Amino acid sequence: MRTPILAANWKMHKTVGEAVAFAKAFVPLVAGVANAEIVVAPPFTALAAVGAALAGSNVKLAAQNAHFEKQGAFTGEVSPPMLADLGCAYAIVGHSERRALFGEPSELVAKKAAALLAHGIRPIVCVGETLDEREAGRTFAVLESQLDGSLASVDGGRAAEVVIAYEPVWAIGTGRTATPEIAQEAHAMIRSWLGKRFGGAAAQMRIQYGGSVKPDNTAQLMAQTDIDGALVGGASLEAESFAKIVAASA
Ligand code: PEP
Repeated sequence: MRTPILAANWKMHKTVGEAVAFAKAFVPLVAGVANAEIVVAPPFTALAAVGAALAGSNVKLAAQNAHFEKQGAFTGEVSPPMLADLGCAYAIVGHSERRALFGEPSELVAKKAAALLAHGIRPIVCVGETLDEREAGRTFAVLESQLDGSLASVDGGRAAEVVIAYEPVWAIGTGRTATPEIAQEAHAMIRSWLGKRFGGAAAQMRIQYGGSVKPDNTAQLMAQTDIDGALVGGASLEAESFAKIVAASA
């Protein structure tokens, strides 16, 4: 039985004050939820303050990115030990915005995922096809190539700690959610790939769906066999909205 995992990706939104106000409003709304893992990924600037506001709650802290080195001359970057020091339990890597806007290839995502695991942080590894790739019938080939590359350095013994987020690029921030059937088809393909790569651990690995998840479409998505949670952007920016998504999944 896989525990559903719901993660809020705030992207480049919220000042420290706004982020803490969210945490204070959100924690009581989900305090009774025991059968789902709840994660919030604020921008780097708000990690410390949100971490403090979440202390003692059932909501975990995540980063939206990480460098793969421990320290060094990498201006503007933040390392896994720095994130561990702030109490991050998870970090998102390979988000389509980082792949498309910042040119991050899967080989770099793989280095980040391995470095995070080495420092006790669980990576949420994002994969997903563009609309052109889907329309050209290349969805599975694209997913396979992203999985091959991004998980290349994950040791089989640690596989169950890795979360995969299937996020079709055409559904992110567009209001156009994948139908539950389309999402399930991709999730089943991903689980089968995980089975070939990691064997029995694939049955324990969580695969989140991401792309215009909202309170009113969550339950249908979560009812699919291979959908184990959601990575939520826009609808996670308000405490009540994200709490409804958690409630619909737990
Ligand atoms: C995301 O950025 O990971 C995402 C899924 O965004 P949205 O929910 O806004 O589509």
